Amino acid sequence: MQIHRYKNNGYNIILDVNSGSVHVVDDLVYDVCGLLEEQKDSAQIMDALSNTYAKEDISSALEECQELKDEGMLFTEDVYKDAITNFAERPTVVKALCLHIAHDCNLACKYCFAEEGEYHGRRALMSFEVGKKALDFLIANSGSRRNLEVDFFGGEPLMNWQVVKDLVAYGREQEKIHNKNFRFTLTTNGVLLNDEIMEFANKEMGNVVLSIDGRKEVHDMMRPFRKGAGSYDLIVPKFQQFAESRNQDKYYVRGTFTRNNLDFAADVLHLADLGFKQISVEPVVAPPTEDYALRVEDIPVICEQYDILAKEMIKRHKEGRGFNFFHFMIDLTGGPCVYKRLSGCGSGTEYLAVTPWGDFYPCHQFVGEEQFLMGNVDEGIKTPDLVKEFKCCNVYAKEECRKCFARFYCSGGCAANSYNFHGSINDVYEIGCALQQKRIECAIMIKAALADEN
Ligand code: SF4
Ligand code: SF4
Ligand code: SF4
Repeated sequence: MQIHRYKNNGYNIILDVNSGSVHVVDDLVYDVCGLLEEQKDSAQIMDALSNTYAKEDISSALEECQELKDEGMLFTEDVYKDAITNFAERPTVVKALCLHIAHDCNLACKYCFAEEGEYHGRRALMSFEVGKKALDFLIANSGSRRNLEVDFFGGEPLMNWQVVKDLVAYGREQEKIHNKNFRFTLTTNGVLLNDEIMEFANKEMGNVVLSIDGRKEVHDMMRPFRKGAGSYDLIVPKFQQFAESRNQDKYYVRGTFTRNNLDFAADVLHLADLGFKQISVEPVVAPPTEDYALRVEDIPVICEQYDILAKEMIKRHKEGRGFNFFHFMIDLTGGPCVYKRLSGCGSGTEYLAVTPWGDFYPCHQFVGEEQFLMGNVDEGIKTPDLVKEFKCCNVYAKEECRKCFARFYCSGGCAANSYNFHGSINDVYEIGCALQQKRIECAIMIKAALADEN
């Protein structure tokens, strides 16, 4: 029986964790719920609050809370924890592949997991043959699942564009034969983007991810060309054209914030001012030794930025110039199935990264870490134990998550972050957790504010 109580932007919010019910309440009900959480009985609550509130008001607040309890919307039990004990044994299929079409890049981003496109000195392009085998593997290992996701990723996939086009054609041919439906995504830094590519992507790609960090000075500092010049001026007009050509839908601009721009709300708003409607700006995934890595002492500043952003988003929404911020988009209705809510990003089980030469890794962040090599396109998955370990990266396998109010929205955090900071995929990454919890608080507050408006 767990609630999460907090105040944000003038709202008193109570989230009933297990049912997912959200209540926006007055000060009295807020205080009553706090005492109920501490297992105080009615007499003790009356005693504790009678100096602040009228007795009859306290009585009706207690009644109100009891009604919500009776209706299964407050202090509900965790019905999932037993259903989930066999989580590791559940059968999974592969649903998505991240194809590293090119281990090469025309930019040299400072935070690049691909070592500025160098990939541990092993530059390579994926051949059509390897890509075909990867799609065949996906079809063969997807069971009865019809919708399959393929992300053309890099390095920079446009450096191997012909293979992308050939693989899309191959996928379209195969999906008919096997009764599947491929949903392709292109992730690009924009340098090589042109009209032909946009036209093709608008026809074939269910989503495109356009990498840009925000303000020019922020973007150019972290995302320069190899010789040092910034890439902002070249990519912005192309991304604007691309987003418009997709009717501001089925794409997002994706940025990374680091210790160098802890005031990242300004970057999100800058992207909105450029006209983008679908925006994601995410905390950097980096080893703690890097000077741009986020530190524990940065958490309050970052949380404040989320508050600034949330308030500004509500304001802009009311003015008719709203935009979506990916990390504030949570589904308060809970989604279709508890397993989905608890299985996280699916890395290493339902989702794999494929290198240009056909090796499998749990996700792009693990590519090149040999202990995470899981198999390849010729032999399939060779490490069932590793798959099992990744399957267990869910909220009921981690002590911290089991207690965390955010568990149904977070699903256990990022295995790569956990590995970077603790040397194990089964830990939690404290900074990530603090930010995740804050984002969920903001997201709920935004929904409350917009519901208020209606
Ligand atoms: S564009 Fe992507 S792959 Fe290229 S250097 Fe930047 S982060 Fe790395
Ligand atoms: S925020 Fe952290 S502790 Fe909470 S569910 Fe996510 S990973 Fe687990
Ligand atoms: S482990 Fe982390 S970096 Fe990898 S796919 Fe999952 S959330 Fe993303």
